Amino acid sequence: MPSLRFIKLANVFEQLERTTSGNKMREILARFFKTVPKKEIDIIAYLLLGQIASKYEDINIGMAEKMVLRSIAIDSGRAEKEVSSTFKKLGDVGLTAEKLTTKSKPTLTVAQVFNTLHKIAAASGPGSQEFKIKTLAALLKKASPKEARYIARIILGTLRLGAGDMTLLDALAIAFTGTKANKPKLEHAYNICPDIGIIAKTIAIKGLKGIEKIGVTVGRPIQMMLAQRAKSVQMIKEKIPGVIACEEKYDGERVQAHFDGKRIILFSRRLENTTNQFPDVVEGLKKSIKAKSYVIEGEVVPIDEKGNLLPFQILMQRRRKYDVELYVKKIPVCLFLFDLLFLNGKSYIHKPYPERHKALQKIIKPTKRIKLANRKLCKEIDCIEDFFNWCISHGAEGIIAKSCAPDSTYKAGVRGWLWIKWKQEYQKLADTFDLVVVGAFYGKGKRAGTYGALLCAAYNHKLDRFETFCKLGSGFTDKQLAELPKKFAKYKIPHKPARLLVHKDMKPDVWFTPAVVVEVLGAEITRSPLHTCAVEKGQGLALRFPRFVRYRADKSPEQATTVKEILDMYKERK
Ligand code: AMP
Repeated sequence: MPSLRFIKLANVFEQLERTTSGNKMREILARFFKTVPKKEIDIIAYLLLGQIASKYEDINIGMAEKMVLRSIAIDSGRAEKEVSSTFKKLGDVGLTAEKLTTKSKPTLTVAQVFNTLHKIAAASGPGSQEFKIKTLAALLKKASPKEARYIARIILGTLRLGAGDMTLLDALAIAFTGTKANKPKLEHAYNICPDIGIIAKTIAIKGLKGIEKIGVTVGRPIQMMLAQRAKSVQMIKEKIPGVIACEEKYDGERVQAHFDGKRIILFSRRLENTTNQFPDVVEGLKKSIKAKSYVIEGEVVPIDEKGNLLPFQILMQRRRKYDVELYVKKIPVCLFLFDLLFLNGKSYIHKPYPERHKALQKIIKPTKRIKLANRKLCKEIDCIEDFFNWCISHGAEGIIAKSCAPDSTYKAGVRGWLWIKWKQEYQKLADTFDLVVVGAFYGKGKRAGTYGALLCAAYNHKLDRFETFCKLGSGFTDKQLAELPKKFAKYKIPHKPARLLVHKDMKPDVWFTPAVVVEVLGAEITRSPLHTCAVEKGQGLALRFPRFVRYRADKSPEQATTVKEILDMYKERK
């Protein structure tokens, strides 16, 4: 089967862009998947997400708005000034490309576009900017107006069709197994292999049998196992029978380190490649861990010269592309390791936690920079409480209690009761939630010119949709407030996000594609007719007195607090 014509994909982009319903979106995608050549379904899946590879592969096209506008000028033979003024009028590079491109008939194939985008991404070093601009101009020359619109948006990362990886999994299950009921099987494989291209190709060509065989590969991240939250120490004891491994809960950034015998790669909680950010951690691991190959996990935390833990916010300064070495010195970190998923060619994810931990202990030689997470094995509540208090007393957030039972395997991407977090803030009856910003209301009076409140939503994992939970207007510093419109400008979309469930009377002034996650502190969960979180008989759950705590750049929208978690908390507190 020859490569799909790119116009067919562009037509689907257009349909998706126009729909405001998540179910419709799944239908369109499922229908489309059935018609595409199976051998290129992987690249089609990436392109539907506005990507040219899986996110963890760290492939950047490396073209800014200005460069794309120059390509449009070359393609259309117009002056750069004219292109700029059209862009100013239309406010979107995609629409500018569509309007100005020379009107060719659509002849491009998906493979042609995909390969050219990779060629552009691969160019680096002197002269690469010019090369990128010219290569894109040549591609646009062959594109019809509609194709040009979407090519420009993919290049700039502004495709924003509203479909997420979970939406694609639903559609793949429908297309290739006939029912959405098989999505959990795809999701299980996706948690071990979070590469939508591999999942799409495997289900299309090898079916569910192929999906079941997908395993751990060094160099490809694994979705990280998550913890449930406990209301009290008694609850930990109820949920984890027998020995409880209490580990210090560090407030930093989760790191999954992969070593294939040659290279160490670090992945963040969002499965982004963070190797370049932490050269000190890479060096530390080389000295401290002796094994032929491994996948291990821990939390990287900023520390002072005496090794004391410092607050998470300080670590944010290490999130940078430039001056990395300077900040390695300025903000030293320590990696506290707590799990092992793969060792010397063998996967450990199906082994119980004590076995994984023992293997980790064997390969580590602790140093100033690489340590094992502090832990204590407990059976009784007193023991857990003592350890919790000790952790708090030297700057930790709380503890993670872990099951040591025979079934305590590594549950990739799952938030279950094998791991339970218990934080100090829970004792004060104040809880924090990681919520996705989906809209905003203009400010009035003192807040004119910025937003008065952000509309925030939780994630309904089962239904793959976002449900509104609060309007967030307090807790921001003046500077943060003033920066809101700029920060959110690139996420603006003209209508409600397709995967958002919103009450008809909830009408923010602007809508955002779900992208930014904020941590929000709240006083109480109540029922409200205006919110849609866990809605029942017309009443949703809402957070009272929400306060902004911080941005959670380390979390993706689908990693936000789930509707189920909020519902569980609400029931417990009632
Ligand atoms: P939260 O982000 O509040 O859901 O808490 C879970 C996070 O705590 C994990 O994703 C890790 O990044 C972090 N963490 C810190 N210490 C540990 C530990 N000892 N075991 C597991 N996770 C930990």
